[in-house]
Parts: sequence; structure tokens; C-alpha cells
Amino acid sequence: MSRGVRLVGLGIVKGLIETARNFIGSYRDPRRLVTVEYPEVRLPPVERARTFPMLVYDGADPEAGLRCVACKICEKECPPQCIYIEADRDARGRVLKRPRVFDVDCSVCMGCQICAEVCPFDAIKMNTEYELAVADRFGGLLLRKSQLVRSTEYHRTVHPQEAVEIDAQVAQARARAEAKARAGGGG
Ligand code: SF4
Ligand code: SF4
Repeated sequence: MSRGVRLVGLGIVKGLIETARNFIGSYRDPRRLVTVEYPEVRLPPVERARTFPMLVYDGADPEAGLRCVACKICEKECPPQCIYIEADRDARGRVLKRPRVFDVDCSVCMGCQICAEVCPFDAIKMNTEYELAVADRFGGLLLRKSQLVRSTEYHRTVHPQEAVEIDAQVAQARARAEAKARAGGGG
């Protein structure tokens, strides 16, 4: 028997031994199972998971706490152009730093995360929710602002490492802005 044939035979035997080890081991150690019985069983979310965007707000009020200032950078940078934003206005028609309309068409969104990366205010982040099937593909996947908002607590549950870092930066920026405002008011 040639050396090549012997090596192939040895490889097959090693593969069968490994398969048998996993097959028998899966009855004793659940970590050896390569599938989970979804939807009864769900894998815990991982830090790097992402599906579609969400809008993060601080505090308890999704409107008052929204980080988004309607600068529209994400809208411009989104490759498939699936974000639509209209800034809010006051009674005199002046533009306010908050969105009145913020839509994401998830039937077009490719989950690239560019919107989250370009946002200077850490207002848009990637959600990890994936059970979004709808009967109406066009209307059902057009998510409005009220459907996109998520609290900072939620952000911490789905992306704990990212959220800790960003919450600290947001708190620092807010403290600086408040100190500047106080200094301006005093002068
Ligand atoms: S999510 Fe960020 S980049 Fe997009 S409009 Fe709001 S503040 Fe600007
Ligand atoms: S994830 Fe990508 S495709 Fe989806 S809204 Fe953001 S920039 Fe656009």
C-alpha cells in the first residue's frame, strides 16, 4: 500500500473518531451540540451582532432624550439611501436640532453600520433584533422613529462594551457643554 493511500485512510479514521466523540459527547455536554432548538432555545446575543439601525435615547423620555440632532450625515452617507430624515421646527418655522421624521427602510438596508460609524453624536447604533418578518414587505419594513427608538439601557444589554464606552463619552460631552453654558451665562 502506497504512503498516500495510508495517509488518506488515517485521515478518514481520525475524522470518524472525532465524529463519534462529538456524537457520544453531545449526550453528556450541551456545549458539543452545534445546533440549538430555535425558537424554544435562543443563543445569547453577542457584542458584534447587528441587524438594522436603532435610535438611542438617554433617560426615560424617547423624545426628550433622543441623541439625534437631525444633522442628516447618516442620511447622506447611507449607501443604498434608505434613511429619510426631516428636522423638527418650532412654531415660527425655525429648524430645531431634533428629527420630526426619521425613517429607515429595512427592506433596503443592508446592515452595513456606516450610519452608526459616521454619526458624530452616537445617536444611531445597530440593533440585534432579527424576528422582523412581516406580511407586507414594503410597508411593514419601513420603520418609523417611534419604532426605531431604544433606551441606553437596551443598548447596554445588546452591545455592553460599546455602550459603556459611548455612555462615558456622552456624559463627558454633556458635562463640558453644561460647564460652557454656565460660564457663558455668568459672563
Ligand atoms: S442619527 Fe446621527 S448622523 Fe443621523 S441625523 Fe441623527 S445625529 Fe445626525
Ligand atoms: S446600516 Fe447601512 S444600509 Fe442600513 S441604514 Fe445604516 S448606512 Fe444605510
